[in-house]
Amino acid sequence: MFWDRESETLARPLLEQFQLRQLQETVRRVAERVPFYRQKFAELGVKPEDINSLDDARRLPFTTGADLRGIYPNGLLAVEAHEPVRLHTSSGTTGKPKAVFFSRNDIHNSAELMARSLVMAGLTKQDVFQNMMSYGLFTGGLIMHYGAERVGCLVIPAGPGTSERQLMLMQDFGTTALHILPSYALYFAGFLEQRGINPRKDLTLRKAFVGAEPHTEETRQRIEQALGVDVYNSYGLTEMNGPGVAFECERKAGLHLWEDHFFLEIMDPASGEPLPQGQQGELVLTTLRREAMPLIRYRTRDITSIIPEPCPCGRTHHRLNRITGRADDMLIVRGVNIFPQQIERILMSTPQVGRNYVIILEGLDDMAIQVELAAAGFDGEVEHLATLRRQLTEKLKTELYVRPKVDLVPAGSLPVAEGKAKRVIDRRSL
Ligand code: AMP
Ligand code: ZN
Repeated sequence: MFWDRESETLARPLLEQFQLRQLQETVRRVAERVPFYRQKFAELGVKPEDINSLDDARRLPFTTGADLRGIYPNGLLAVEAHEPVRLHTSSGTTGKPKAVFFSRNDIHNSAELMARSLVMAGLTKQDVFQNMMSYGLFTGGLIMHYGAERVGCLVIPAGPGTSERQLMLMQDFGTTALHILPSYALYFAGFLEQRGINPRKDLTLRKAFVGAEPHTEETRQRIEQALGVDVYNSYGLTEMNGPGVAFECERKAGLHLWEDHFFLEIMDPASGEPLPQGQQGELVLTTLRREAMPLIRYRTRDITSIIPEPCPCGRTHHRLNRITGRADDMLIVRGVNIFPQQIERILMSTPQVGRNYVIILEGLDDMAIQVELAAAGFDGEVEHLATLRRQLTEKLKTELYVRPKVDLVPAGSLPVAEGKAKRVIDRRSL
């Protein structure tokens, strides 16, 4: 199903022509209106008229998260200070957040992209859409809400309330689609199990849209099995409107990034050099239609790669592979680079493992992983637990080249975050 078939299936040469026009326009606007960019362009000796092809985008300066924090609160506005109609901030936990402003058109475009994404994943106006993400400064709640309303669903703005209340809403209003954090979806599945509720029989769920934090294919499969739903990966970030930047189509084979709104590059995160299509690196995005706060070559820190083959669904916008993590998430333990996702893949593909885990770095440079058991886990013999522990340790060591200390803990015993899951605690005395 298409929301905007013409834009979604635009032939690539036309799409690229459109991108170039919008890129030129964006560069012209920020050179005129944003002193931050005027200065950066001057430092690199680049002028708007130098951008004559999409390859010329490489001549433009990067924008980083640190730049956004540096010019906080509103140094990147390309409109008068009274013009934006909405403020959102990123969900960073330390220091000042990154503030992003929206004009009326920016809100309209975000809602359109969101509707486009949801319809692409099979949402229809017959659906009852329970939005279990937080409303407020975080974009995930409001922007998704607008998108689902635009599709014509009955939208339940549940927010991240208690599981008890979520369940009541699902039962009373016949919820068919969820927007939910993947870590919370796993937790919620455990809650239903405890209640003796079988979602396939007792609820009417059919789809879940999960995102806002890294998660693995194994986690998707677990949520699908536990809740009896089709799960679609939703990617976005506050700096680029929030959700609706890239989303899976019904094939569930990569996330279409909406290239008529964002110009996409993949960089080597260390050198900042562009990488050939298909190679994994840092996603760098330039807004092509943003009014209030255009961003040039924003370094997302998210690690992914482009799937070069066209998608059988007929959409021409490139697909991204699942985000494997943020460049900043990389842990260095005993000199070895480790992404938490490598650990999650192994844990979530082990049936005796439950739904939550936490990685603790401690001592001089040691890694411990606390792993919840599946509910039935503790009924097993003590030797079985010892065997499981040994097997997990070996698998993890083979994958990571570091031997972690694995602790098996009862189902439901690890803390669950209010918002995005916090998977790593670093208490090293290094
Ligand atoms: P925020 O701006 O607070 O919404 O956070 C955006 C960040 O969340 C992104 O830059 C990613 O690091 C992460 N994120 C969002 N969606 C996904 C996803 N589907 N998979 C992996 N990471 C995601
Ligand atoms: Zn597709």
